[in-house]
Amino acid sequence: MRAVLFEDIGSIRVGDYPDPAIVDPGDVIVKVDTAAICGSDLHLLHGRIPGMRPDSPIGHEFVGTITETGTGVKRFSVGDRVVGSFLIACGTCWYCARKEFSNCDQLWVLGYGMFTGDLDGAQAEYVRVPIADLNLHAVDPALSDEQAVFAGDILTTGVYICERAGIKPGDTVAIIGAGPVGLFTLMNARAYSPGRIFMVDMEAERLKMAESLGAISLDSTMVNPVVDIQRATGERGADVVIECVGLAPAFTTALNAVRAGGTVAVIGVHSDLSYDFPLGEVWRRGVTIVMGATCNVQVHWDKALELVKNGTVDPTVLISHRMSLEDAVEGYKLFESHEALKVILKP
Ligand code: ZN
Ligand code: ZN
Repeated sequence: MRAVLFEDIGSIRVGDYPDPAIVDPGDVIVKVDTAAICGSDLHLLHGRIPGMRPDSPIGHEFVGTITETGTGVKRFSVGDRVVGSFLIACGTCWYCARKEFSNCDQLWVLGYGMFTGDLDGAQAEYVRVPIADLNLHAVDPALSDEQAVFAGDILTTGVYICERAGIKPGDTVAIIGAGPVGLFTLMNARAYSPGRIFMVDMEAERLKMAESLGAISLDSTMVNPVVDIQRATGERGADVVIECVGLAPAFTTALNAVRAGGTVAVIGVHSDLSYDFPLGEVWRRGVTIVMGATCNVQVHWDKALELVKNGTVDPTVLISHRMSLEDAVEGYKLFESHEALKVILKP
């Protein structure tokens, strides 16, 4: 089959790879109809993910059709149309028993190297999905591939962090970072009927997109977003700030932009080992800090797909490029340079 293969840090190619086969009774094989490039795929290209196997398929956002099922699969049959979770939970550990799948002892991820299960990725013609009953979701026939493809990762991440942030009707919400995660968070935040949503970023194009989705944009190259948010809220600050960047300065902005008694929720991926935390100030102001970590996909994707089906969220507006899997190298370049917002690949 053809697949997007990780060669080495900074280098991918589209090449031939052996077709997957059923390994365990809970496996299915999915013929991938539509795949997408995720921001976390860039992390492995940038060398932030140890244990990548050279010449292995990458990718974990996909919709496809089941072509083969293992003997232990109960919920799916050949021919079913499914969307896959990036997170391949075991379903049996202490955390999975409590439906905290994102804390699974196993914590496998498709196409993400040896330390996360050594599973081949889904930017390919076919992909093997282990423990399929838990890690696949049926796609409603009313939904297109493009409406469903983000439910296994970034769309549901938006649902997840908005729920954890506890947005209430009428709240002033500020989102830091208008990349794909921030924009999906924005679309889902609107479902909570907040009074207004500020979007903070440094890129005009992305802020324009945020405005088209109902946000008030604050370009941090032109204004001090903290001052603007305070001015708009009687000098209090936002009720809820959701940080979608994953860099220490963005977290600092979030702490400064939230009101006393408010909530800062963090879904940007942080890798700094330490941070000069303003402990006394944050304590005095009674700020709740929610560290999002990895999205608990299997708990929240029902809701994500429902929001799409009932028209509350239209994830397809964030698709900027549609291309053949054969052109994936170009797709990654466009995505990495921020020329593309979300890239769809058709095998
Ligand atoms: Zn991802
Ligand atoms: Zn588990």
